Amino acid sequence: MLIPFNEPTFRESVDIMFNRAVSLMDLSPGLEEKIRVCNATYTVRFGVRLRGAIHTFTGYRSVHSEHMEPVKGGIRYSLSVNQDEVEALAALMTYKCALVEAPFGGSKGGLCIDPRQYEEHELEQITRRFAYELAKRDLIHPSQNVPAPDMGTGEREMAWIADQYARMNPTDINARACVTGKPLNAGGIHGRVEATGRGVQYALREFFRHPEDLARAGIVGSLEGKSVVVQGLGNVGYHAAKFLSEEDGCRVIGIIEHDGALYSDTGLDVEAVRQWMNKHGGIAGFPDATHHSDGAAVLEAECDILIPAAMEGVINLGNAERIKARSIIEAANGPITAGADEVLRHKGVLIIPDMYANAGGVTVSYFEWVKNLSHIRFGRMQRRAEEARTQMLVDELERLSADKGLGWTLSPGFKQAYLRGSDELELVRSGLDDTMRTAYQSMREVWHTRADVPDLRTAAYIVAIGRVAASYRAKGL
Ligand code: NAD
Repeated sequence: MLIPFNEPTFRESVDIMFNRAVSLMDLSPGLEEKIRVCNATYTVRFGVRLRGAIHTFTGYRSVHSEHMEPVKGGIRYSLSVNQDEVEALAALMTYKCALVEAPFGGSKGGLCIDPRQYEEHELEQITRRFAYELAKRDLIHPSQNVPAPDMGTGEREMAWIADQYARMNPTDINARACVTGKPLNAGGIHGRVEATGRGVQYALREFFRHPEDLARAGIVGSLEGKSVVVQGLGNVGYHAAKFLSEEDGCRVIGIIEHDGALYSDTGLDVEAVRQWMNKHGGIAGFPDATHHSDGAAVLEAECDILIPAAMEGVINLGNAERIKARSIIEAANGPITAGADEVLRHKGVLIIPDMYANAGGVTVSYFEWVKNLSHIRFGRMQRRAEEARTQMLVDELERLSADKGLGWTLSPGFKQAYLRGSDELELVRSGLDDTMRTAYQSMREVWHTRADVPDLRTAAYIVAIGRVAASYRAKGL
């Protein structure tokens, strides 16, 4: 029997994947348990007066592991938020940070709310009150616990949180480092909004640098022309699909949203679909594509790369057998249940796991946190010095050419590109690219050198758990 269990919950899925990895490691049972369990979850219920009545909201902040501090993890606004989900997401954050060497423990937060039901000023009131409840318990703090955006939240909410913390801590010079994903004018960093989608692109580029890995998915060649289906055209899915189609020549043949799916064999214009969504609140009615009211069915379309970028559990025992994608990159957290993971592995579908695939967000959050603590934008000190040095080299080459009568001329395009010093966005992208390449290589080394490691997910867990264990051991645990 292929699947020896019924569909597990998200948290059980994370535990199953954790257990599979630790069964291949040499950890003491005590340390194994210490790493697995969630350290603490704080539940808060608070009231906000809105529209003439008091409304009570329930929120969570869960701290999975404090082997490194601050702990880090997004705050999600969704009606499906619950303790189990927040704890599973916090555990994933621990492993994700370890895998990409971001020096944080794992945490996650959530507020049980449908943000679409509230006006902006109401959301601000709710967010500030939630932030107050967390900050007064150090569950938002630059050196203890640093949230970030997640589903249903973005720059706007992070700016309110940062301001709320600063009001409560007016003498804390590092107050801005209490949260990441802020807008630029409130201490944010260039490239944070696009970071998770950009990370998905860099992850795929690295995957495509390894023909042996592609062969496991039955894929050959480069990203150019590869067919892509994306679920969720929000922050992560939109940026991933946009970059892959506009910069790597991928063909985005399917886009699945909350109100159905668009399909076009020749490829969709991602930017145009997004503009349509912004205007109409959904994708229905978009011209130049076939609309399917049963969006989830398009998850089963044949494609080279499937990008679930909406929510957890969308590929499960109910549809796993019918998935025809050759590879799946988990841009969302936990989109494949443990049961489906097993089915897909037996079918030969290659899965690039969430812990790695969507780590671009926390990586650039790490850069933002460092920027806030150092109180200076990346590149501010070096940029013009770099330009002066490259200018010296170009001048010298041109002088030599003139002196010796060699007739060399550097093309204007080359000169312009070479003489430009790196700005913050270029430095952020460079740091992100390096992180995604290095983390992929650490996973694939375990995957390829150990016969008992069946896939990249198990390899990712082994690398991450090994690093967390080393950190606990160094503390004398
Ligand atoms: P988002 O709220 O910006 O976007 C989610 C999108 O999914 C929305 O467009 C929504 O309409 C769509 N959606 C909702 N229900 C759907 C359904 N049933 N079918 C198809 N689409 C549906 O959220 P996001 O920030 O892009 O996050 C998406 C996923 O990525 C989540 O799992 C999140 O935890 C994960 N993630 C986000 C970040 C980040 O930096 N934002 C970082 C790491 C991981």
